[in-house]
Amino acid sequence: MKVVVFSAKPYDRAFLHEAARPLGHDLVFVEATLTADSAVLADGAQAVCVFVNDHCDAAALERLAGLGVKLVALRCAGFNNVDLQAARRLGIAVARVPAYSPHAVAEHTLALVLALNRKIHRAYNRVREGNFALDGLLGFDLHGKTVGVVGTGQIGAIAAGLFQGFGCTVIAHDMYENPDCVARGIAYVSREELFARADIVSLHCPLTPQTRHMIDADAIARMKRGVMIVNTSRGAVIDTPAVLEGLKSGRIGNLALDVYEEEGDLFFEDLSNTILGDDVFARLLTFPNVLITGHQAFFTKEALGNIADTTLANIDAFAKSGAPLHAVSVEKIAE
Ligand code: NAD
Repeated sequence: MKVVVFSAKPYDRAFLHEAARPLGHDLVFVEATLTADSAVLADGAQAVCVFVNDHCDAAALERLAGLGVKLVALRCAGFNNVDLQAARRLGIAVARVPAYSPHAVAEHTLALVLALNRKIHRAYNRVREGNFALDGLLGFDLHGKTVGVVGTGQIGAIAAGLFQGFGCTVIAHDMYENPDCVARGIAYVSREELFARADIVSLHCPLTPQTRHMIDADAIARMKRGVMIVNTSRGAVIDTPAVLEGLKSGRIGNLALDVYEEEGDLFFEDLSNTILGDDVFARLLTFPNVLITGHQAFFTKEALGNIADTTLANIDAFAKSGAPLHAVSVEKIAE
């Protein structure tokens, strides 16, 4: 089957090419992000392979359907960037990689918390310049702190275990209690109670209409003064202007982000010679207590290998049977 891979980076090529070789599918890599305008690049393909910031909205899907594309294979877990109603109407199957390495994302969450708390990024630069002063590098013990984990699916449950390993008390909020978390003594509480009790709020829920801007001015007002918020889920779970106000007032003591609401215009590209047009993002960068990585939590060798294998397994199953292994559909979401 011919598959056009959008938003293809050198590492995507390497891992997907390796996974495709034994199966004999024809992968064509394009650097462009998928939009209604760039969809034409899929001419002649039966499937497209997309990532988190490709725009699989109704307009793009209609163009793809017109070209004869029958499968959108996401090489990620989240599918908030796909209009599933439009896909169903157009007869396009959608597949995703439900799990590749929850450890990668959970471990990056801890990396952000540790680096931000102990100011490792600032210390690294200071020491290289011969500045061994400690002013401004004061952190806090993780041991004994209360961590509120929002979303205890695959990633949240592992992150919760890592926080427990540091001696934190973990409380959680989810619509469903994860038996593994309950067995490890994690108490499920309401969202309001979690915000009120947590020293660190760690977000691991998907982006849905219910979670969009979950961290807004009201939620921040309920949190402890000086709270640390860490988001490795999806950017729009946070209302960024409200968080800016929380940082300015000191109510938010530390903020670590791997995802950003408007990241589609920024992340995964080298923009070091470009004028940054996003004033909200630019303001975030001015705070000494904000640490941002550019959606790299998933970026481990193990995760990329698993993503490539599952993506090709989805494509191969679709080529052979007309159904991908891990389908996403409006019906499945409603279940
Ligand atoms: P998952 O589906 O295993 O777990 C998500 C959990 O969130 C589920 O337990 C679900 O019940 C819960 N949830 C849903 N709505 C909720 C709500 N309103 N309030 C509280 N909990 C809610 O997913 P996962 O594999 O653990 O991934 C979690 C999210 O992490 C993904 O949806 C994705 O957005 C994000 N992610 C980010 C990266 C990255 O590189 N930064 C990589 C992979 C995934």
